Amino acid sequence: MVGLELLDADAARDWMARTAAAVLDERDRLTELDAAIGDGDHGVSMVRGFTAVSAALAAAGELSLPGAVLLLAGRTLVSSVGGASGPLYGSALRAVGKALGDAGGADGKQVGAALGAGRDAIAALGGARGGDKTMLDAWIPAVAGFEFAVAGGGSLDAAAQFAAGAAEGGAEETVPMEARKGRASYLGPRSVGHLDPGAASTVLLFRALADAVG
Ligand code: ADP
Ligand code: MG
Repeated sequence: MVGLELLDADAARDWMARTAAAVLDERDRLTELDAAIGDGDHGVSMVRGFTAVSAALAAAGELSLPGAVLLLAGRTLVSSVGGASGPLYGSALRAVGKALGDAGGADGKQVGAALGAGRDAIAALGGARGGDKTMLDAWIPAVAGFEFAVAGGGSLDAAAQFAAGAAEGGAEETVPMEARKGRASYLGPRSVGHLDPGAASTVLLFRALADAVG
């Protein structure tokens, strides 16, 4: 099977639908991860958010631009999920959508830049940096991997696959970290030895993107 060359509106919808399915499948695991170093709501929050995204996209009917799909998804996450992750993911997807602008189809370079805008939105809103044991520890290597693959001449499909693998590696690296942002930081050194839940859900988001364009 040959992957897509451009992320169009249908692929963006598919990305969101696959993310919704993945967080539903992994709800209990995300909840367990968050129960260990947070308050145990991450799985439920992600499912609530992406279920609302699916409903909002269905209600919106035809959207011809991938940017419009992601702007709506981001706005919906911000308004439907309390806690840290809703506004963070919501701002990220809004930034991705905004960066895609009025492109009817975005190529690897445009998608890479848009994902970078998403990463930056998370950092701006949450004030975290790499190494703080947050979702950024998956986003940062994922975007870097995506851009690296595109710069090397890789297709959108290959870049998204590479990004998903890098997100996974980044998430694994949160295990030995001590949390410096978010609820897990209240635990101090006791946060060490656990995978960050937001990094785990970020892997699902990037895996869903790879599947949507692959
Ligand atoms: P809450 O912590 O409000 O219960 P969730 O459980 O849904 O929200 O999400 C927790 C995840 O959010 C963490 O695992 C972490 O990845 C992410 N997170 C929390 N605070 C920040 C922050 N300031 N910057 C980036 N990510 C953060
Ligand atoms: Mg939580």
